[in-house]
Amino acid sequence: MFEKKPAIFDSTILATKDKDTKPRKYKILYNRNKCVGADVCTPIAPHLVVLNQADNKVDLIGGKETEPGIFEVIVDENVRDVRNEAKCMCDSCPAAAFRAIDLETGEKVAGR
Ligand code: SF4
Repeated sequence: MFEKKPAIFDSTILATKDKDTKPRKYKILYNRNKCVGADVCTPIAPHLVVLNQADNKVDLIGGKETEPGIFEVIVDENVRDVRNEAKCMCDSCPAAAFRAIDLETGEKVAGR
């Protein structure tokens, strides 16, 4: 018999590991210059990124460009529960284009 293995992006696993369930705010940083258009992130985080058909790179939804090619957006879990979506997106990008910072602690919680 085959052992049933969890899916790579099983959000219940992340939720179980992450004991702190208090809603938080995160700053998502996105370096669009790094995006290679592999499009791993859009199915994982449809509320955070969208594929730009013009150049096949993704755009951070609501993101503000703070310097050329560098975008950031604040994600508020009090408004929408996107904790696992944000973490999976940041950790899965093969180009390491994302980073998530906990606004309360200032700690990096996902990405590279
Ligand atoms: S996963 Fe990373 S490299 Fe792939 S489309 Fe998204 S941002 Fe670009």
